[in-house]
Amino acid sequence: MTITQTYAQQKFDEFNKLFFDDTLPQVSIYIGKAVSYVGICRYKRRRKLFGKEELYDFRLCFSSSFDLPEDEWEDTIIHEMIHYYIGLKGIKDSSSHGKVFRRIMDAINSNYGRHIRVSHKSSPEQAAKMRDTRPRVRVVAVVMLRDGRSGVKVVPRIASRMRAYRNGLMLSGKVASVDFYITEDSFFARFPNSSALRVYFLERDEINRHLEGATVIAV
Ligand SMILES: [Zn+2]
Repeated sequence: MTITQTYAQQKFDEFNKLFFDDTLPQVSIYIGKAVSYVGICRYKRRRKLFGKEELYDFRLCFSSSFDLPEDEWEDTIIHEMIHYYIGLKGIKDSSSHGKVFRRIMDAINSNYGRHIRVSHKSSPEQAAKMRDTRPRVRVVAVVMLRDGRSGVKVVPRIASRMRAYRNGLMLSGKVASVDFYITEDSFFARFPNSSALRVYFLERDEINRHLEGATVIAV
């Protein structure tokens, strides 16, 4: 299942009663599309008078990019609620999943037969898989230099930015041509998408291989 706002809110209320004596104040719950985490507890820090630090503006964020069994979603929600509890009470822990965190986690696991884990972030492999299964359309500028070299740059899909990139490069006098292609090839995910006047040099063969069948766009 994928997570929804309603589900996360309902589970928050249920677990608040069950594990935290209903003492946790209502908190903002966000559902996003992150691929780098399944759940995360965000907050801000501020110094109070006399230098004491306070955490505030808590938000529990979950990613709808993951399809997980329901009990894993529940464990993830409880995990983030433990962070929220520790932060809210201003308890000093030895690390982000330190002694206090583990004590609470272990107690819930053994008393309620849960399987909350310390590591709730997606593994790099899992994240890469997520990225690959969601093809993203990119605009790739193919740059041919007068000295025979070639290269690419991923640019924003905005005509005025594309023109500005081409005009900027042509002004250097070293560039013979800049053509734009639209592609879903994940090979281009490794290049930053920006308007910077940069070129990543690649062999012409490699560029052709990844842009085979790609649509040319005229701007
Ligand atoms: Zn955590």
